[in-house]
Amino acid sequence: MALSGLDIFKLLPKTNCKKCGMPTCLAFAMALAQKKVALDKCPDASPQAREALAAAAAPPMRLVTFGTGEAEAKTGGETVLFRHEEKFHSPTVLAVTLPDDLAGADLKARAQALKSLSFERIGQAMPIEAVAVLNASGDSSKFAAAAEAAKATGKAMILISEKPDAMKAALEKVKDARPLLCAATDATAEAMAKLAKEAKCPLVARAEGAEALAALAEKLKSAGCEDLVLWLDAPNGWAEMTGLAQIRKLALKKNFRPLGHPVIAFAAEGEPEAQAARAAALVAKYAGIVVVATIEPWALLPILTARQNIYTDPQKPVQVEPKLYAVGEAGPDSPVLFTTNFSLTYYTVESDVEASRIPSWILCVDTEGTSVLTAYSGDKLNEKIVAKAMKSADVESKVKHRKLIIPGYVAVMSGKLEEETGWEILVGPRESSIIPRYLQEVWGS
Ligand code: SF4
Repeated sequence: MALSGLDIFKLLPKTNCKKCGMPTCLAFAMALAQKKVALDKCPDASPQAREALAAAAAPPMRLVTFGTGEAEAKTGGETVLFRHEEKFHSPTVLAVTLPDDLAGADLKARAQALKSLSFERIGQAMPIEAVAVLNASGDSSKFAAAAEAAKATGKAMILISEKPDAMKAALEKVKDARPLLCAATDATAEAMAKLAKEAKCPLVARAEGAEALAALAEKLKSAGCEDLVLWLDAPNGWAEMTGLAQIRKLALKKNFRPLGHPVIAFAAEGEPEAQAARAAALVAKYAGIVVVATIEPWALLPILTARQNIYTDPQKPVQVEPKLYAVGEAGPDSPVLFTTNFSLTYYTVESDVEASRIPSWILCVDTEGTSVLTAYSGDKLNEKIVAKAMKSADVESKVKHRKLIIPGYVAVMSGKLEEETGWEILVGPRESSIIPRYLQEVWGS
């Protein structure tokens, strides 16, 4: 748990020697609490003080990584219970199962399908980061073969088996991919911890209830496994959701270290739509990794959309690079519209312009990621800012005409903008969805 300035002050020498560049130890302690300076600046801090401050500075939830290189996935490292308190740091890793009871050609086909799954929304790539190899057959050699097929997808890997023998067989094939081993129970803790330690892989601890989970995590830690992920075995969805919330609170609010690890949860049963609904709920309620069985893009996209929304920094709107964009084969006779660089606004306008089938230019104006009305009311969007954006994008050289279409919501700035730019201002629709019809009527031949 973070220490206050006064807590830190008690640990300092209190000589006010000024070697740290601060006038007093108290001033240094306050700056340290606000993370404005490092403890190293005080040469006289005792080893005990250094140890206490380092322990207090450790994050309440461990950051766990698995996979290697571009396929590395990370989970955990969270510091707040609610997103609005700061932000969430590690977007939930979405994993899709690859069961080892599939026959050769089917196994390869599913692995290939997993490899090609990729999504994009409001300009951001939304990957499926991991493949969860499932030891559905119970057979060690089939599990190892499926793990090899999973490796070819180039995604991070989770090996799911309760059997240490099967885990060992798969690890022999894919150890270098640094998979997440899932899972050790109280009965298999020793054997699974040995495998994880030898292969230097993170390990999942699986138990019923937070108390048993905490005990198992401590047992695995004392066996040398620090990189742990928790799997809460719960009898039903309600017990799972409340259990996950309890774990999160104990870890982040009470700084209860045994539960200070990310959580894996499963939404791999039922129809794809049921999996999507459950997975989205798990993303919202603190799962660091969610495993689904569906590879239906229409079921995966809502989960990824929920993840994107929850893991966006609430203090930093998602932004698009401010510049002039061509939609279609835009040329010298194409219309020019402007909008703001708030991603949701820009991509809504872009798709509606595209739907008009009239190649166009969209000038994306830097409004610090705010929407049209917000930007206008906050004076981040005015005639001078638009004129400057037009100049820096050299819009004049791109078109022969001098007509600019502005959002209907800022019709009020048309007069001043006309004076500032010398361009004829056409007031476009208020709602983006009207843009296709508007462009057809105003610009269509
Ligand atoms: Fe206090 Fe250390 Fe700064 Fe000296 S260097 S004033 S002891 S905090």
